[in-house]
Amino acid sequence: MSQVLIQDLAKLPKSFQAFWDRVAQIIPSNRIFCDPLHTLAYGIDASFYRMIPKIVVKARTPDEITQILKASQEYKVPVTFRTAGTSLSGQAVTDSVLVVLQGAWRGHSILENGEKIALEPGIIGAEANRFLTGYARKIGPDPASIDHAMIGGIAANNASGMCCGTADNSYQTVAEMKIIFGDGTLLDTGNSTSCADFLTSHAEIVQKIKEIRDEIVADTELTAMIRHKYKIKNTTGYGVNAFVDFEDPINIIKHLMIGSEGTLGFISEITYHTVIEHAHKASALILYPDMEQACLAVQKLDRDTVSAAELMDRISLKTMEEKPGMPEYLRTLSPTATALLVEVRGVDLESLAQKISHVEDLLKDIPTVLPINFTSVKAEYENLWNIRKGIFPAVGAIRVLGTGVVIEDVAFPIEHLAEATMALRELLDKYSYPDAIIYGHALDGNLHFIFTQDFSRPENLQRYELLTLDVTELVVTRFGGSLKAEHGTGRNMAPFVEMEWGKKAYVLMKRLKATFDPENLLNPGVIINDNPHVYLENLKNMPQANQLIDTCTNCGFCQAICTSKNLTLTPRQRIVVQREIQELRRTKEDPERLSRLEKDFDYSGNQTCAVDGLCATTCPLGLNTGDYVKFLRSESVTPTTRWIAESIANHMTGVTGFLRFGLGAVNGVHAVLGTSLMERLTLGARKISRDAIPLWNPWMPKAGKVPALMQAPQKLIWADSQKDSTPLKVVYFPSCITRSMGAAKNDLDQRAVSDAMLSVLAKAGYEVIIPQTMNGLCCGMPWESKGFFETADKKSAELESVLLAASEGGKYPILCDTSPCLYRMKRVMHSLKLYEPVEFIHDFLLNRLTFNQLPETVAVHITCSSIKMKLNDKFYKVAHACAETVLMPKDIQCCGFAGDRGFTVPELNQSALATLKDTLPKDCKAGYSNSRTCEIGLSLHSGISYQSIVYLVDKCTKSKLKD
Ligand SMILES: Cc1cc2nc3c(=O)[nH]c(=O)nc-3n(C[C@H](O)[C@H](O)[C@H](O)COP(=O)(O)OP(=O)(O)OC[C@H]3O[C@@H](n4cnc5c(N)ncnc54)[C@H](O)[C@@H]3O)c2cc1C
Repeated sequence: MSQVLIQDLAKLPKSFQAFWDRVAQIIPSNRIFCDPLHTLAYGIDASFYRMIPKIVVKARTPDEITQILKASQEYKVPVTFRTAGTSLSGQAVTDSVLVVLQGAWRGHSILENGEKIALEPGIIGAEANRFLTGYARKIGPDPASIDHAMIGGIAANNASGMCCGTADNSYQTVAEMKIIFGDGTLLDTGNSTSCADFLTSHAEIVQKIKEIRDEIVADTELTAMIRHKYKIKNTTGYGVNAFVDFEDPINIIKHLMIGSEGTLGFISEITYHTVIEHAHKASALILYPDMEQACLAVQKLDRDTVSAAELMDRISLKTMEEKPGMPEYLRTLSPTATALLVEVRGVDLESLAQKISHVEDLLKDIPTVLPINFTSVKAEYENLWNIRKGIFPAVGAIRVLGTGVVIEDVAFPIEHLAEATMALRELLDKYSYPDAIIYGHALDGNLHFIFTQDFSRPENLQRYELLTLDVTELVVTRFGGSLKAEHGTGRNMAPFVEMEWGKKAYVLMKRLKATFDPENLLNPGVIINDNPHVYLENLKNMPQANQLIDTCTNCGFCQAICTSKNLTLTPRQRIVVQREIQELRRTKEDPERLSRLEKDFDYSGNQTCAVDGLCATTCPLGLNTGDYVKFLRSESVTPTTRWIAESIANHMTGVTGFLRFGLGAVNGVHAVLGTSLMERLTLGARKISRDAIPLWNPWMPKAGKVPALMQAPQKLIWADSQKDSTPLKVVYFPSCITRSMGAAKNDLDQRAVSDAMLSVLAKAGYEVIIPQTMNGLCCGMPWESKGFFETADKKSAELESVLLAASEGGKYPILCDTSPCLYRMKRVMHSLKLYEPVEFIHDFLLNRLTFNQLPETVAVHITCSSIKMKLNDKFYKVAHACAETVLMPKDIQCCGFAGDRGFTVPELNQSALATLKDTLPKDCKAGYSNSRTCEIGLSLHSGISYQSIVYLVDKCTKSKLKD
């Protein structure tokens, strides 16, 4: 055990030390933490609460959960489970032990021809739907966060969304469940032996459940209230409808687990009944002169007619009207205008058309600002839905820096919707939240209101308190609604559960909690909490750190795509730690904590960030934490490192020549020593040098090649004589990577990338212009990724002027063979027509070459730069023109090689590609991509040769030219 860990452990209370000792026996040291960085980083979720756990454990198996729960009971240490941490009500935070599932629990099986699906809790909701695509089915629950939230949280929050209403949520669609209770016992509700065992071994619990049921059923008033309250969405308190809907105790327990927010037990697997995914959809954005008319319109609709009806007030629409692609008419609306976004679905076009005309008929008497216009054109209705989806992020983006985003989630009986919505607006105005927006799933009476708040100021805290008290009064007393419709009770509404449900139901809920968790060790303080002010405590501040990340709301949508998510930190966690570091620097409050965070961030936050920027593609605000990490790297540039960087930049010809020589020599040694001895020797050398020597691997490339200048073809004679006989011109810039790095010993094609590229271009009848001075040129990317921005810009400016001249002022397209380099070129060179291989082949060569599709299976890796350039479809088309079966493993995002990081921090590449080998079928013998360094890592972790897609195209194509 390291000295630092001993010191961290010594700071923990004795019971936590004992818990640690016990759990550390079964959990390896890279999955259990008590240091300042990990506890802070993992502690944060999307809510506006902040608690820092004392211990974070990443659990991977049911057995580990059992052991953790047993240790929790033995040492009276509470535990909180966490999947994606996108919860908004403070139910996924703790100051005790946080058990993190992310990175594991990824099992699933499709049952009964897609009618059911069994899912482990670490599967993302959208992944589950992807598994079901071929069956035209999906899971019922559809929270707006479905691309990020995981099954554990979706079930434990009873999350729902625009279409599922109260009919298709987890409560209604759960078939079976595997539950691990606080004492470590596993109940599999789908296994009769397990159920029978449980009924015997836990007879006392079963008895108490029966008693609660009997009491509820005997009380007709209470039963009626429960039935009434679940007619609309409700996630306040426990799902006590289980007691009135079911008699069998196992069935009751299974349904009680839904929405229990990790306070009754652990869901280790859930089997859902799936629902139909209709193929045909149409949407209309219907504009009403005011809120009242819009709400009256909603009341005319029901779920049999429409699948969604989303309400957006004028302020919501205003946050979106200036965004690109938004309809012009949004800007011209009156201050009271209110929109209803309606979606209808049908099994076929005929039923879709019938539903549209039925809706138009139902709404014909309510005046609209513009005529109702449904569209079934995908691009058009997706644009309408972008308005709805963009609202929450838009509020996050325009808020005053330093404030957090508060999102509330209430539901009203549909008949009161108009009156209640207007009363809510009055309250928001009364407490000076004029910019607060109101929107939501109106069809279910479910409204969200969002405002921003700086909780570091006491007057704001008081304002929030008074507003909350008035809102609870309005929702519960005046309109008989739900205080939490879909986001879960958490800490936020725990003090108001009794108010909403009344004393009797609340006492029963407390008894229920005590039945399963008598010592209050499972997520204590959530749902049941005796502290009336808990919703005002542990509020999160959002200290400013840097303009690149200051608008981050902690939603967590950046996490799933992050390359280092299973190794060190995610973008959200990097931001959280940096905010803390900047705050500690400002306040100078805790220098010891500051220096620990700074030191530990260097590896976890900085060195292991691939800076690929993929996080920007899923962040609702487009924040690129990779850019921020590059900025941090730039801050640590010293005069010496700058001098070294500039020297390398100024001597590129020598540097690439030296690299070629080095790789050639290493390859020679490899040939003599053989792979296994080479591996052992180089690993030893790396260890001795304390990781200063880059790690060698068997897929290390040989020396690359500088292409010779080409002879231009004079006149082209096409076999079909349809095309122009004058050769087309292209400027080919082989990147410094492909100039330095050739094929690996075991690669299928031993030629240099440039040889394959020139062969393809020649077959297509291109005259290729190769810049004469190419040897010293580079796009600047290697410097940019290390924070040497000036040097990077100097290099790209140098390259740009050469390419401008070579292309005669931008007249000819420019082709670079390496996708990440081309991506940087695209970002900094604006007067050139720039292409990497996939787009060039797709756009210009598909018709100029004869493709012979091979009866083979090939794997394709889309690099991050290609993803950002939206080349996925083109990649697929090009690869599919060449091979019958094209695999694009969905689990793999960035490969984590990140330029040279695959050599210097190889564990990042290993972690990012951990699942690759298992994903590829045995008959897949070759992989293709468009970045040489990425290909090294892909080959290493798949065991098959990955090379540029250009090789595949060359292999599968013939010229249409006459010999
Ligand atoms: C921008 C944004 C939009 C959102 N939109 C919606 C929406 O439309 N509808 C909606 O309902 N919610 C929405 N949410 C809230 C949230 O995304 C959902 O409630 C989601 O289901 C939470 O899933 P998670 O994986 O993040 O769970 P977490 O936040 O990690 O955990 C949620 C709860 O589940 C418990 N838990 C997790 N795993 C287990 C397990 N295996 N066993 C027992 N307990 C467990 C946790 O302890 C916690 O109490 C939104 C959030 C954001 C940030």
